[in-house]
Amino acid sequence: MTDTPTQLFIGGAWVDAADGATMPVDDPATGEILCHVADAGPKDAKLAEDAAVQAQEEWARTAPRVRSEILRRAYEIIIERTDELAHLMTSEMGKPLAEARGEVAYAAEFFRWFSEEAVRIDGGLATLPDGRNRMLLSRRPVGPCLLITPWNFPLAMGTRKIGPAVAAGCTMVLKPAPQTPLSSLALAAILKEAGLPDGVLNVVTTSRAGEVCEPLLRGGRIRKLSFTGSTAVGQLLLAQSAEAVVRTSMELGGNAPFVVFEDADLDKAVNGAMVAKMRNMGEACTAANRFFVHRSVAEEFGRRLAERMGALVVGPGTRDGVDVGPLIDRRGRAKVEELVADAVERGAQVLVGGRTPEGPGSFYPPTVLADVDPGSRLMDTEIFGPVAAILTFDDEDEVIRRANDTPWGLVGYVFTEGLDRALRVSERLEVGMVGLNTGLVSNPAAPFGGVKQSGLGREGGRVGIDEFLEYQYLAVPVS
Ligand code: NAP
Repeated sequence: MTDTPTQLFIGGAWVDAADGATMPVDDPATGEILCHVADAGPKDAKLAEDAAVQAQEEWARTAPRVRSEILRRAYEIIIERTDELAHLMTSEMGKPLAEARGEVAYAAEFFRWFSEEAVRIDGGLATLPDGRNRMLLSRRPVGPCLLITPWNFPLAMGTRKIGPAVAAGCTMVLKPAPQTPLSSLALAAILKEAGLPDGVLNVVTTSRAGEVCEPLLRGGRIRKLSFTGSTAVGQLLLAQSAEAVVRTSMELGGNAPFVVFEDADLDKAVNGAMVAKMRNMGEACTAANRFFVHRSVAEEFGRRLAERMGALVVGPGTRDGVDVGPLIDRRGRAKVEELVADAVERGAQVLVGGRTPEGPGSFYPPTVLADVDPGSRLMDTEIFGPVAAILTFDDEDEVIRRANDTPWGLVGYVFTEGLDRALRVSERLEVGMVGLNTGLVSNPAAPFGGVKQSGLGREGGRVGIDEFLEYQYLAVPVS
């Protein structure tokens, strides 16, 4: 960690904030300060924007193969440095090392995927219906982008945006979450090493997100915002983007239903629940938030899930054998505590967990709640912690209605052995993604994203690059 950059990355150079400000980065396992990084203000953001705007024209003209190979080299460097990056991520974010290694591989894969897409940007020539006019279609980069990422997947949320932007020929200003700036700074250093020209990617770490981002969104030079974070912040940024008609991609919050039918294979359902709930300690937009289990299997499902959850080892993510690290900070933990207390007050049974441990850090134990009252606050709030809330249902129409009764629509999980029911239910769920007898949907080759208030647009897959490209149509009459 000693050589991890801690300055801003602007125009290919490492620089301090103009006013010399710094901010601390904490270790969530101990609450102690790991290091300080530069704390950018509006002046620094403007310099980063200048660098991106200046680099845009030449970068757009760079051969796709060149852009592709930069991403490919960066992919290889990330894979070579898996251990180093995983340790860095665990130290600033808390997830266990095994999960951090998994995220490094997932993050790198976006660069490999988009290195392959960079050379497949297509266009077209068509004869129009009148038989005389021709239409020439080409695709060009949308222009300088502002990328804003959350703390829960510090590396992958960056590569999922930088990969397609580089592939499409866009320049960028990246603003990572203040809790986890180090992974993004390490990523910038890797891209520089891989040959990314100066100014194409600029990174501003800041504790003053609003002051830094709003002028960029309203200023008219940034042409695209790609945001991952909460729905509330997404709504604010959409309003700010309206003034200069900035194109937006929004990956927002979720409230995933996890539905277990009476004909489900309970081994698959419990395994799926462990992944859908416990990946990233429950701090994932894809985390199962509401478990709807058919009344006839609810008791057995709850017992088996509680056994598995109770067997998980909680501790600092760097320690061998640990399954569950600390939550991001004490504020995040206090929210989980309040949601559990509210559910228990309304009659939920605690099958396992539910008690905050003494001592440093922001640990919370894996918890299973049964007989949760549908009016509990955790039914319409992202728990963002290791708490599984179980409710029962009696028939298919009822569970679909309840699953859809939320403003969010990111992902749903369906467990049934009947193909007919699996397809019928999946089609009726108002979500962008469905895990069918699986608790994991994320894959760089698949279009990730939600409907309703879970977002706009898709990241990854064949369509991920479209978010960073515009069509240009040339009308050509032929006599
Ligand atoms: P958040 O509070 O919305 O913050 C996300 C990012 O936005 C951070 O970098 C944050 O910086 C920044 N931000 C906040 N206010 C801003 C403003 N006024 N202007 C510009 N930037 C601003 O979300 P979070 O707590 O970090 O992350 C958790 C949320 O992300 C959850 O809702 C989760 O579901 C969602 N998420 C969604 C996906 C997806 O793909 N759909 C993936 C991962 C996470 P500051 O912290 O400095 O304010």
